[in-house]
Amino acid sequence: MRIVMKFGGSSLATAAHIRRAAQLVAGQRASGDQVAVVVSAQGDTTDELIEKAREISSEPDSREKDVLLACGEQMSMALMAMQLQELGCPALSLSGWQAGVHTGPHHGDARILKVDPKRVEAALAEGKVAVVAGFQGLDDSGDITTIGRGGSDTTAVALAAAIGADTCRIYTDVKGVYSADPRVVDRAQIHREISYDEMLEMAALGAQVLHSRAVELAREKRVKVEVRSTFFPEDLGTALSLESGVRRPVRGVACDESVAMVTVLGLDTGPETCRLFTLLADSGVNIDVIIRSPGTAKSRGVVSFSVGGDDGDKVSAVLKSSRRELGYAGFVAQPGMAKVSVVGAGMSDGCGVAATMLRALQEGGIEPQYITTGEIRISVIVPREQAPLAVRLIHKAFFGD
Ligand code: ADP
Ligand code: ASP
Ligand code: MG
Repeated sequence: MRIVMKFGGSSLATAAHIRRAAQLVAGQRASGDQVAVVVSAQGDTTDELIEKAREISSEPDSREKDVLLACGEQMSMALMAMQLQELGCPALSLSGWQAGVHTGPHHGDARILKVDPKRVEAALAEGKVAVVAGFQGLDDSGDITTIGRGGSDTTAVALAAAIGADTCRIYTDVKGVYSADPRVVDRAQIHREISYDEMLEMAALGAQVLHSRAVELAREKRVKVEVRSTFFPEDLGTALSLESGVRRPVRGVACDESVAMVTVLGLDTGPETCRLFTLLADSGVNIDVIIRSPGTAKSRGVVSFSVGGDDGDKVSAVLKSSRRELGYAGFVAQPGMAKVSVVGAGMSDGCGVAATMLRALQEGGIEPQYITTGEIRISVIVPREQAPLAVRLIHKAFFGD
């Protein structure tokens, strides 16, 4: 069998952690499997590197920032290869570019376009474990890129697809995918199986356990993915599957704690609204929820929308510079918001999910400011400080105590 084993930052935080992960890898190889490993940066290394860049510049050059951030994974790959060799397991470390990870040019959030796994294949053929740095690649101009926070999961899936691995196992600090973040909800239930569609929605809505592009890619390339604990490796964890075996309207509660809401008052709801969203798109702002109240004969309309918390300043800048052109009356920005969502493939043919969710919030004294729905999800926007309570209340309403 061929397997990709990916270890996240918390599974590699110290030398002792690396030893434990390496023992798992060596054991897998000793059982006769060919093993490629993908590693993240140790512990909080990526955050620390970002902080280092900030000490030099408030807006570091994106190319140089990627050069810096890629160092974290390179440390891990060398340490993991050394530890494997120390255990008598032949291993070769490979950076993203040595492993043939080719990306688009968008620094900080590049997409993996292709993996040419020649050197990984050669290492496996020689009986070695190939240890690949996650989160990094090379673009067309030969520059180092990174693929977005949490992106090592995506490197693992892309590599698994490229080498035709039988399984891509994501080892992390929890036992698998739960019905909510187990650090927020004590009684969260582990899923033994979850569909790619549900997992994709959960990941995109804030469940950090898997990078959403990893799930998307796994679904597209039909890569078998399992999420397991580095600390309880005998536990079978969660397997992603094409169909959800469980027909329950709600399978999970997810939370994105970095949301900003912006409300633009007195905006004509025709071409002006269209122009506003064009200007925002041109500035690279990703809009999520949009709510538009059309104007009346006496007053013009109101448009509210949400963006990722990091984009709040960009939106304010666009609005300020276009005030004369758009002719709106004013705007209110609310940073510090969170989006809490319920997800479940079974909700598309049931009813009452929104009612249960809103009742749970109301009983806890939380009044969501905005509500949106999709085919297999319902989301509400609440102040960030209320988000953990909102998650617990909603989870209790759907999964009991
Ligand atoms: P790694 O460093 O291994 O990549 P991450 O921190 O990216 O780990 O992801 C694991 C974390 O995801 C867990 O510690 C947990 O707090 C969080 N998490 C959020 N939602 C969920 C969920 N539904 N199931 C499991 N973990 C979740
Ligand atoms: N080290 C990177 C991050 O912290 C990538 C990853 O962990 O997957 O985001
Ligand atoms: Mg992660």
